[in-house]
Amino acid sequence: MTETPTRRILTHDEYDAAYARLKAQARLHGTQLSSNTAHAALTAALAMIDVYGPAPEPEPDTCTALYLPTNTEEDGPDILGVWQQCFFEPGHDDADGHESDCGWSDDMPGAIPARTTDQETA
Ligand SMILES: [Zn+2]
Repeated sequence: MTETPTRRILTHDEYDAAYARLKAQARLHGTQLSSNTAHAALTAALAMIDVYGPAPEPEPDTCTALYLPTNTEEDGPDILGVWQQCFFEPGHDDADGHESDCGWSDDMPGAIPARTTDQETA
């Protein structure tokens, strides 16, 4: 899948504004959305128009490689548009690829390689 000119990654402020609006609108219609539900609904809705939330700050306990699944044919609805962080140990061989709810390599669109500062020099 190639990058399309319409793809856009929101800033944290843009994403937060859309999230707040979704929660407020749901409340207006008598529904209290949990934060998990609101984030999932917003992520899924935005992914349909090729818009995605900002990359999260990686957790320090595993490999810091991140990946944004955007392929509607290969990435299931549960992970489409949901940033993935590799669950392998920090500093593992990048040639092995990265793995979370899906697998990826650093050269795929949407991949952010692991931070080298987090790699241990054994
Ligand atoms: Zn990894």
